[in-house]
Amino acid sequence: MIVVKPWPFFAAVNIAFAKRHQHFCLSIEKSSYDSDCQNRPVSRSSCRWWALIVSYRGQPAVILQSKKRVNFATLVIAAGAWSGRLTRKLGLKVPLESERGYHVEFIEPSFMPKHPTVIAAAKFIATQMDGRLRCAGVVEFGGLEMPPSKAPIDFLKQQVQQIFPGLRYKRIETWQGHRPALTDSLPIIGRLPNRRNIVLAFGHHHVGLAAGARTGRIVANLVTGIEPELDMTPYRADRF
Ligand SMILES: Cc1cc2nc3c(=O)[nH]c(=O)nc-3n(C[C@H](O)[C@H](O)[C@H](O)COP(=O)(O)OP(=O)(O)OC[C@H]3O[C@@H](n4cnc5c(N)ncnc54)[C@H](O)[C@@H]3O)c2cc1C
Repeated sequence: MIVVKPWPFFAAVNIAFAKRHQHFCLSIEKSSYDSDCQNRPVSRSSCRWWALIVSYRGQPAVILQSKKRVNFATLVIAAGAWSGRLTRKLGLKVPLESERGYHVEFIEPSFMPKHPTVIAAAKFIATQMDGRLRCAGVVEFGGLEMPPSKAPIDFLKQQVQQIFPGLRYKRIETWQGHRPALTDSLPIIGRLPNRRNIVLAFGHHHVGLAAGARTGRIVANLVTGIEPELDMTPYRADRF
């Protein structure tokens, strides 16, 4: 049997952050599946979905950019801010937007906070990482295609300078990511309406890392035919 492993949400969130935002394919288990794409980092070009289709007898399938077609018994769409593009192909329009955010990392800093610290007045969060201080924040609406802007990075640096005026460091690294934001601030978690073999899990806004484990468990249950123990009505895909 072909199954989608029940942890794509974990994979997307945890691996993406752990490996510093490289792109991964969703974890897919299929003996004859393109070996390039099995549960390990791959280049965006080889494993990115190029098209999503529901084919003969209602079976979901994806066409990879390599033009290979892969069929699934159950398919999980957990592609963050990109998910709307995929669901649209299945006839579901969702009000999903990217809230772009940024971080500046100070490598080998002269100072580390003892705990992750929300500095509300300066609108950033300082987190002690391994050998680096991560300062993250900013909400920018600029869609999925626009390259990172310079102004939010400058803003973050300036704010950090004000809060930690004595901070010294070896060098700086910067990053921009996409928070998948639905208009009512709740994620979509559940089966695609009228189609039991496609499960949706996206729209976790600013809290996808914190909420990912719980969502992963719910998705695992749905994929394996266990009904979640909580009322899923608020998270339905057809609520808009
Ligand atoms: C600056 C910043 C700070 C944040 N801080 C926190 C925090 O402290 N705590 C917290 O809980 N959350 C935080 N978040 C939010 C968190 O990052 C998101 O909620 C979370 O990443 C959403 O997870 P996701 O798996 O739905 O989407 P993503 O992490 O965006 O993963 C989606 C994946 O799908 C891939 N993809 C897209 N299209 C395709 C396709 N066609 N084929 C194959 N793959 C595809 C993408 O490349 C991507 O790897 C922060 C976000 C930002 C930007």
